[in-house]
Amino acid sequence: MRRTLAVLGWLATAGCTWAQIPILRVRVLDYARVPDTALREFAAPASEIFRHSGIEAQWPTCRIQTRQGDCEPLADTEVFVKIVRLPATQRRHGAAQFGTTVRQGARGLFSYVFWGRVEQAARDHGIAPSLLLGHVIAHEAGHLLGLEHSAGGIMNEQLTAPELLRAMQGNLHFTDEQGAALRDVLAPRVEARDYRASSAASR
Ligand SMILES: [Zn+2]
Repeated sequence: MRRTLAVLGWLATAGCTWAQIPILRVRVLDYARVPDTALREFAAPASEIFRHSGIEAQWPTCRIQTRQGDCEPLADTEVFVKIVRLPATQRRHGAAQFGTTVRQGARGLFSYVFWGRVEQAARDHGIAPSLLLGHVIAHEAGHLLGLEHSAGGIMNEQLTAPELLRAMQGNLHFTDEQGAALRDVLAPRVEARDYRASSAASR
């Protein structure tokens, strides 16, 4: 009987993953007057990184100065990224750090992305600014969902030449464990409810 329940539970979960792809929605607030091309095109590589882990990601953007785009007030539960320009005095210090996530306990509240550094590194390494911006935003979104740094993938502490080369090849992703953790964060309640429903039905 226990075995039947376990199998039903597994089927419900498997059915759930087919029917219901976890969706991540991160609002991107542009305070830095990022050029149109970069603000329009970062979403494709950022989404591709999450799609590789079985997650559909949406990146509605708002230009703060001109109130263009998705500029509705933020909901309490909404995660967001602010793209900012650092004051000149802070530009050199930690130049390889492209962003940071503000946390409350283990929970990420929001992230900063430092546009000047992204733009400069894109120039230095011959990578499209939108491609680098997409990777930096995906990295910070990983933090917002609770991931820590890890060697080698998109959650590497710094995105330096080897990571940027892999980024250009479309080959810089979350690890399998990180992907599983992200899917858990995004879809725990759905699976728990389906599991309870299937257990009740089998009694
Ligand atoms: Zn980080």
